[in-house]
Amino acid sequence: MAGDQPPQSLDDWFLSLLACPGCTARRPLHLGNDQTSLICECGRYSFPITDGIPVLLLESASVLDDTIPAGGKAAGE
Ligand SMILES: [Zn+2]
Repeated sequence: MAGDQPPQSLDDWFLSLLACPGCTARRPLHLGNDQTSLICECGRYSFPITDGIPVLLLESASVLDDTIPAGGKAAGE
């Protein structure tokens, strides 16, 4: 339809399939500003992208903010 933009890029679609392994809620991930990392929506983890492949392993992740509890922000307090 006129005026419609493509809904999203392939990258957006791909990212929508991924989820943070560190969050019990399996939160989505977002591409970092440097385009070489994926940031969990929880704000705690950053996962590296190696040769274009996201490495979604907690042992490879950087902890961005360890004040955020693992598993994501408290739910249903
Ligand atoms: Zn997370």
